Amino acid sequence: MVHDVIVIGGGLAGLACALRLQQQGIEALVLEGADRVGGRVCTDRVEGFALDRGFQVYLTAYPEGRRVLDLDALWLRPFYPGALVRRRGRFHKVADPWRHPLDALVSLASPVGTLGDKLRVRTLRARARGGTVEERLSAPQTTTLAALRRDGFSEGMIDAFFRPFLGGVFLERELETSSRMLEFVFRMFSAGDAALPAAGMQAIPEQLSLRLPAGAVRTETVVTGVDREGVTLAGGKRLPARAVVIATEGPEAARLAAADRERAGGAVPGAARGTTCLYFAASQPPVTEPILVLAGDGPADGPVNNLCVPSLVQPAYAPPGAALVSVTIVGVPALGDAALLAAVLDQLTDWFGAAVRGWRHLRTYRIPYALPSATPAELDPSSRAVRLREGLYVAGDHRESPSTQGALVSGRRAAEALIAESERRGTIA
Ligand SMILES: Cc1cc2nc3c(=O)[nH]c(=O)nc-3n(C[C@H](O)[C@H](O)[C@H](O)COP(=O)(O)OP(=O)(O)OC[C@H]3O[C@@H](n4cnc5c(N)ncnc54)[C@H](O)[C@@H]3O)c2cc1C
Repeated sequence: MVHDVIVIGGGLAGLACALRLQQQGIEALVLEGADRVGGRVCTDRVEGFALDRGFQVYLTAYPEGRRVLDLDALWLRPFYPGALVRRRGRFHKVADPWRHPLDALVSLASPVGTLGDKLRVRTLRARARGGTVEERLSAPQTTTLAALRRDGFSEGMIDAFFRPFLGGVFLERELETSSRMLEFVFRMFSAGDAALPAAGMQAIPEQLSLRLPAGAVRTETVVTGVDREGVTLAGGKRLPARAVVIATEGPEAARLAAADRERAGGAVPGAARGTTCLYFAASQPPVTEPILVLAGDGPADGPVNNLCVPSLVQPAYAPPGAALVSVTIVGVPALGDAALLAAVLDQLTDWFGAAVRGWRHLRTYRIPYALPSATPAELDPSSRAVRLREGLYVAGDHRESPSTQGALVSGRRAAEALIAESERRGTIA
């Protein structure tokens, strides 16, 4: 049997691609190497706790999410729009002045940034909210650090707030990521909520997958090669297809595309940003609000970049009577698990006191490929092409922007390029 379309990878991009093809009446077979769909959006159930594989949130302002997801069915609940910054031995609340004006008045007096910095946030917000999302993602770009300095933010504000906040989003604290991503992220955070689904982040890809026909997704099916006739599976079996969409992570897409000697250009970037996430069970949460806690003193204070209590956002993340604490480190440290755990507990004991010694370590996730790197050079328009040659397409966050939104859009774009070409050539009915 010759398949119309084979999509390699059942992450958000692959699923969004298959759904868009299905809308057009084109059947796609999704081949996923892992034992479940979702790729990097994955939740493990451990002793009644929901552990997302790496701390992540869904931003309700993502336009593509509004288009393709049933957000009501995810039972999303929001984080507090702001952060608690640990700076020089104390916690300071930084509030979103548009949604929490009273808290913002208090934070005006906090040592996290000058009064001028707080006013500059307004300018950045106005710029980020101007035009369309596409315009923000194609605006003239520099690095995030250069853009913040150009806007006049003080080094104190950059170090105490932007490095840990954006460092937790971009997974790099040097702020080398394109200023397009700064504006995109600012726009999304100011236009909606950072939220978690009741059943964990994996509910998002599962929702997409359930909309595909039975049998449209095959898990535990690793593709090792792609050519004009279709794909080769691990073990050597061949599956013929009229068209193939490679919807894997960037490095694997590069490998599979390189094996196809006939592809016509379209480099696939491969550099990665990693992260490490530790989860703890606590009898009492270290904070009382569903808020993000940021390490405003930088790495000198310890390995932690940010922390939160997901069970204060979504109670179902922990069994009754317990709290789940999620701790994020930017990058994947060379330290072994035991030494890393000790360093994290030392830092957090300093922050929250001796109660931290009573926390129970649940799991440490080291994720070397969490996001594709998105420096100005890597967000170049030439790296966004989704057509590699006739019948061969590529999708994934590395084609768009390192985010849920980017993955979903890339899947749709690849599907639409395939549909347009097959209509032109009459290759797929
Ligand atoms: C820890 C972490 C935190 C994040 N935080 C956020 C956040 O807060 N907000 C946000 O918007 N985004 C966040 N992201 C990014 C977001 O999760 C990704 O951008 C998005 O999920 C990427 O989807 P994708 O489909 O492009 O790739 P993936 O999810 O990587 O999917 C690729 C799929 O291809 C499969 N595959 C690979 N090779 C093969 C093969 N040879 N054969 C068959 N299958 C194969 C993989 O198993 C995988 O399922 C985070 C990511 C991580 C890891």
